[in-house]
Parts: sequence; structure tokens; C-alpha cells
Amino acid sequence: MNLGSDNLAGASPKIMAALLKAAEGTQSPYGQDDFTKAAAAALNEAFEAKAEIFFVATGTAANALALAQITRPWSAIFCHETAHINEAEAGAPEGLSGGAKIVGVSGAAGKIDPEALVAATARFRKGWQPHVQPAALSLSQVSECGTLYQRDEIRTLTGFAHAHGLKVHMDGARFANGLVALGCTPAEMSWKAGVDVLCLGATKDGALACEAIMFFDPALAHEFTWRIKRAGHVLSKGRLLGAQMLAWLDQDHWLDLARHANAMAALLKAGLGSHDGVEFPWPVEANEIFVWLHRALAERLRQANVTYAAWPPLGTPFGARSPAEGTFARFVTSFATTPDMVKYIVTAAKAP
Ligand SMILES: *Cc1c(COP(=O)(O)O)cnc(C)c1O
Repeated sequence: MNLGSDNLAGASPKIMAALLKAAEGTQSPYGQDDFTKAAAAALNEAFEAKAEIFFVATGTAANALALAQITRPWSAIFCHETAHINEAEAGAPEGLSGGAKIVGVSGAAGKIDPEALVAATARFRKGWQPHVQPAALSLSQVSECGTLYQRDEIRTLTGFAHAHGLKVHMDGARFANGLVALGCTPAEMSWKAGVDVLCLGATKDGALACEAIMFFDPALAHEFTWRIKRAGHVLSKGRLLGAQMLAWLDQDHWLDLARHANAMAALLKAGLGSHDGVEFPWPVEANEIFVWLHRALAERLRQANVTYAAWPPLGTPFGARSPAEGTFARFVTSFATTPDMVKYIVTAAKAP
């Protein structure tokens, strides 16, 4: 049993059934098919938007291409220092943007501290030739620590960004998990809060491989179609992406899947939290649980074949502890996590 990430699960049966159906018959290639057009329309309806929308198969491609679109090679992109674009994309945003510089900003629990953002941007003077030019702010919702920006927190950061001429990108690999946790509308957590371009991940929330890039101001998408083609990210059988997105959105399937994942995380957190030898550095607000496991408890989980991701304890009080004392762990629940799985883990972790 492995809960190290939410991409360890396969795909929702509803989405797989839609894929099988979409494989029938002929359709125009390269995203000109009926499924892709309907998926874009459905997304715009869900977001109360008139966005220009593109689909790719990976979140890294979505982030890197979106950021390349809103920057120049001599730009600076500000994000939390733990952000996926900074730490887990092998330099794709720098590479596909032709060299834009990513600047990590500090802040507790994976969220950018507004004062630290002010200080970070102030280090690069506009119009000063030796400095990279501030161009973009990237926010991860859900954050890398499993925490959420409240809407007013998003607005504070995007307000500052826009006042300083920065465009705002949101890495929404777990957007749906954040959305159902905050209980607001998709528009309220994106464009109404000042997000200019959203990378909306369906993959970790039940799709096989599908991410949408939404430019809420269509002018921002100028010639983007060549950017993704040039990067080799236009699927010949584009219907396979469109069909996934359509099924994911249909009858709020995406929200149901995310609600389930979040509920399983809450259950697991409560269960583990009832044992001795566990400490949580950050609140569990969506579907990710970061937890310090005392060695004896970690050993019981190991014997029960429960696997999680061992995580670097950066920004936690556990960094100074020796590995002999325990492990810092990440559990991520998904649409496919069951109450029985949670019960099994909680029972296995319990001291005899
Ligand atoms: C998983 C993830 C992505 C996308 O990653 P891919 O593996 O390239 O699909 C982007 N951002 C965050 C925060 C993620 O967790």
C-alpha cells in the first residue's frame, strides 16, 4: 500500500470509459476535434470565463509553457522556494522560457510571505540593465506543504504583483482539492482573485494524463499554439485529452473525486493523530499529510507494507533530529483511496 503521491493511483473508471468511447470513429487531429472544443467550452462555463484554453499531458509542460508565454528570457519569475517549478521540473520553466530566472521566496508552510515577496522583487530594479526584469509571480494552490492560500491571501499577493507589472501564474496541479476545501467557485479561486493564467491539473484528480492551460485574458495567449507545437506538446490525437477533460468536468465529477481525496486525508490525519509518536508541522487542508513519524511507529508501518514518501524536513522543526529518531513523511490520498485503506494504515501504526 503506497500513499506517497496521488499520481500512484490509476484513473477514474468514468474517465477511462470516456476515453474508450472517444477512441471510436474519426476526428480532426491536433486539438481541432469535437471533444477538445467541448472541453474548452465546459471549462469556460465552469469558470464563468472566456479564456483561451490549451491541453497538454503533463503538469511540467503546462507550467513551463505558460510561464514561458508570460516572460522573456531575461525575466524573473517569483515563486515559493519549495514550488514545483523551482524544485521538481528539472529546469523546464527556465529551459522553455529561454532562460528566465526563478527566484524562490520564503514563507511559512509553503505559502509566500507577502513581505518576503516585496523584498525579493525589490532586489531587481526595473529598467536596470544588469538585473533580470521581474515579470511573473507563480502561486501553487494547493501548496507544496499541502496548505491553502485563502482567497484574501491570493488577492493580497496578486494585487502586489499587478501593481508591479507582474503577471500571475497559478500551478493548480491540485486545484480541485483546494477548491472543494475552500468551498468557493472556480472563478473566485482563479481570475476573480487575480490569476492571469491557470495550469489546471486533472491527472492527480482522476484523469490518466490531462492538464489545461487557461489564459483568462485571451490576448495573453497570442501565438501560444506555436509555442506548444514547437515544444512537441501538441497531441496528434488531441481528442484523448479533450475526452478526459469533458468526463472529468461532467456532473461535477472532478469535485466529487477531490472531495473524496480530501475526506480520506482528514480521516487519515485524525487516525494517525490519535497515536503517540506523530507530529504534524502544518495543518492538513486538502489531500496531503506531512507528518513526523517516531521510529517505532515508522517501523510498524514498514512491517505492514505501508509506504509513503520520505520527505526533506525543510522548514519544519524536525530538520535537527537524527534519522535514528524517526522519519518525516508525506502521505497523499487520492480519488482511489478507500476508508478501508485508511483504517488499515491507522491500525498498523497503533502501538501494540
Ligand atoms: C505533480 C505536480 C505538477 C505536475 O507534474 P507532472 O509530473 O509534470 O505532471 C505540478 N505542480 C505540482 C505542485 C505538482 O504536485
